Order: sequence, then C-alpha cells, then structure tokens
Amino acid sequence: MLAEIIAVGSELLTPFRQDTNSLFLTEQLNGLGVTVTFKTIVGDRRAHLVQAVSIALGRTDIVCVMGGLGPTEDDLTREAVGEALGVRVRRNGDLLAALYKRFAERRSSMPGNNSKQADVIDGAEVLPNANGTAPGQWLDIVVGKHRKLVILLPGPPSELKPLFIAECLPRLKTALPPRHIARRVLKMAMLPESEVDARLAPIYTRFNDVETTILAHVGEVQLHLQCAKTILEVAQARVQELASRVEEEMEDDIFSSNGESLEQIVLYYLEIRGATVALAESCTGGMVAQRLTSVAGSSRSFLGGAVVYSDALKTEFADVPEELIEEKGAVSREVAEALAHGIRRRTQATLGVGITGIAGPTGGSDTKPVGLVYIALDDGKEISVCEKNFRGDRERVRWLATQQALDMIRRKFM
Ligand code: ATP
Ligand code: MG
Repeated sequence: MLAEIIAVGSELLTPFRQDTNSLFLTEQLNGLGVTVTFKTIVGDRRAHLVQAVSIALGRTDIVCVMGGLGPTEDDLTREAVGEALGVRVRRNGDLLAALYKRFAERRSSMPGNNSKQADVIDGAEVLPNANGTAPGQWLDIVVGKHRKLVILLPGPPSELKPLFIAECLPRLKTALPPRHIARRVLKMAMLPESEVDARLAPIYTRFNDVETTILAHVGEVQLHLQCAKTILEVAQARVQELASRVEEEMEDDIFSSNGESLEQIVLYYLEIRGATVALAESCTGGMVAQRLTSVAGSSRSFLGGAVVYSDALKTEFADVPEELIEEKGAVSREVAEALAHGIRRRTQATLGVGITGIAGPTGGSDTKPVGLVYIALDDGKEISVCEKNFRGDRERVRWLATQQALDMIRRKFM
C-alpha cells in the first residue's frame, strides 16, 4: 500500500511555516504498514491543487490532503478534490445546521462564508472535528479500476492529530489488510556514512522485504530496519535475521541494537562491570558530563569531573605538571594523558578521561590546527590516547570530541 500526502497552503511555501503534519501522518501510516512514497506541498491555487490530487491518484492508493478546509476564499481543497475525482460537491444540510448551532452556542452569529465548511464531496463520509469547525472527509472510491482512499484533513495540527486518531485510524485498520510492523534501530559511532553503506549494502539489498534506511548524524550513523507482514512474528524474524547479519559485519562498531543512546550504553557497561568514570574536560567544557548525567541512574557509575579550561586549573584539579603544559602545550597528547591520569587518581575512579583540544574558530596554528583534539583514557593499567583532526565549526568539534570520548569508554568493555 502506497500513500501520498498533500499539504495545502501557500504559507507552507514560505520560509515562515513548515509542514509538520506530514511527519505525524507518515509515522501513523507507517505504523499500519503503508509506505509514504510522495509528499507534495501546494499553494492555495485551485488549478494546482486539482493537478496535484490527480497526479497522486494516479500513483498511490491512499491520498491524504490536509489544510484548505477553512471558510475563506483561499480554502479550496473540497472543490479541488471533487474536480480531480470528477464528482460534485454539495452543501450538507445537517452539517450546516450543526455549524449554526456551534456558533449560536458561543453566542455569535456565523459569518456567511463559514457555510462553505458544510460542503461535502459526493460519496464522502464526514469525519467530525471535535476541535474546530472544518470536518474531515473520507472517500473510499474506485478510480479507473483501482480502489482509492482519499482523506481530507484540517490543517491545524491540534485538529488534525486527534481527528486522524479518532476517525481515520479505525477506518484504515478496517480498510487495509492486517499488517504488523517490526522495527529495529542499530547505531554506530564515529564511522563515515559512506563506509557503513559500503559494508552493509551488499547485505541489506538481499532483504527486499525489510526497508532499510541509513541516517547520518554528527559522529553517529543509524540503520533503521522495518518490516511489515501479516503475522508479527514473521516480521520480527525477518528484522532479526537482517540485524544479525549486520551485527556480524560491523561487530564492535555497533554500539546499540535497540535504539539506545551512546551515553546510555556507556553507563550500562560501566554498571554491569561495577566500574566508575571521572572526567577532566577542557575543550568540551563539561559536555561529556552533561551527556552522562542526562541519563537517569548515572550516579551509580559517573563520579563527576572537572572543567579544566585554564592551564592553572589543569594543574590544580588534575595534577597536570606545569612544566608539561609549558613544554608540550595545553593541547597535546601528553597533557591529555596527564588529565586522564590525574583525575582518575584524584577520584579513585576505575576510568579517568582527559580531553583537550582546539574547538575554534580561533586559536589554531599550522602545527595545531582548529579541530585538533586529544582524548585520553586511563584504566589504571595503561593510558590510551586518541588524536583527532575534526572538521567543522566549534559546536561540531566539541560534539565529536564527546562522541569519541564516550565511544572510547564503551570500547574498553568490548
Ligand atoms: P481552518 O479552519 O483553521 O482554516 P484549514 O484546514 O483551512 O483550517 P489552514 O487554513 O490551511 O487549515 O491552516 C490552518 C493552520 O494550520 C495554519 O496556521 C497553518 O500554518 C497550519 N497548518 C496547515 N497545514 C499544516 C501542515 N501541513 N503542517 C503544519 N501546520 C499546518
Ligand atoms: Mg490555508
């Protein structure tokens, strides 16, 4: 089953308003095993709307048209859908009476143009709108030789969402063949999207019935797997099978197989190993601590840390020798090591982490460019250091440093 979502409204073609309804609708439709193949945004022009609806009817089974059900001149969705289907739009007496009643209850008289909202496309079921005056409409019709569902929904998200859930979900569940969806999200840190795809494409392309999407974030690649079947267990088994193949290929590069965040995974490993961690952060300014403490229960494994931005505090809080900073520079492998070692010794944590780098945009030099970051991890036996040359702006460099630090902690437990 394929669907197209048409968002109506000239304001959605300006930089000031965004079509957010379609994200909600896509999620809902996907949950029913329906794939959204097109999203179209059309301005409030009748000819353009007719054109968009006609095209959608020719290429998908379900067409959701939202917005343009209001009372004003530029609310043309009803008329345009009627025209595209070649059917009439008529004023519905019951709806009109209900509109009058609604206005009367608020002790105001109904403006004449509001009666437009009582217009119903021939053959449509009216979907009551508990939160507004524009009802939705549901058409289950045959176009050419094909059965089509055409759904008209009000534009305001506060009206569309409850209306869809109350009126459309039950109707869709009845109209569509039973579908059950299985989903998995696998996550990898600090790998380029292109590398992940090169390694995984030969695997996931062999699973035609599992929809695979690769989403790249800063320092993180996510693999979303989804399968729809009439029997839930069958869908789950297919997703599981592909996930296992992916895990075989990526091994420790995968940090999460069920959607958990990197900080959640790090804390999970620390806890099951009975280990603790402490941080001495320079260029990340406490961001690693922030990420760890955002997880409930982090106090069981995260002892705390110091933001050691100045050279003096690197010495005072993490015992980095003054001479070392003078000789090697604050951003150096040796100072990162000393930070990790010093904070671990001071706090008696199982693991000590030291981070020092140049986040930019200023402060770089030929030998130490912006984006150079050292991340050190002391486990009490040895200190490992990672030297990175991150590209991008200040926030990106800082985020990547936290991502790298968390991933180094995680890999300690692999
Ligand atoms: P109304 O009776 O309120 O006029 P309507 O169905 O005609 O309902 P619109 O006039 O098109 O809806 O939109 C009303 C409001 O909803 C506007 O603020 C608009 O920006 C917002 N809106 C419309 N479509 C969307 C969308 N796709 N995503 C998010 N907001 C939307
Ligand atoms: Mg509008």
